Amino acid sequence: MLAHAASCRNHPEREALGICIECRTRVCAECVTKVEGINYCVACLGKLAIAGERHDATVAAPSPPWLAWVSASAWFLLAALLAWGLVEVAMPGSGW
Ligand SMILES: [Zn+2]
Ligand SMILES: [Zn+2]
Repeated sequence: MLAHAASCRNHPEREALGICIECRTRVCAECVTKVEGINYCVACLGKLAIAGERHDATVAAPSPPWLAWVSASAWFLLAALLAWGLVEVAMPGSGW
């Protein structure tokens, strides 16, 4: 076997299929991970994941105000339906 000019850093016997965009390391299909169409090696993906978690933590906001409103409306609707159901049970076909 000829020594591959482009072999995986972790698997010298395997052909590299991608290059990590971060560290320019050649990686095989097993070692490469595509994130939004961009190749990352395992090491850089780990860094990316950590950075992503930090990013999410800062972005994550408390429940938006509309959520509370929707929730309240849903409960009101449920209560109304429940009340309607009780009326139906209490007075089945009561003259109207
Ligand atoms: Zn990398
Ligand atoms: Zn590999």
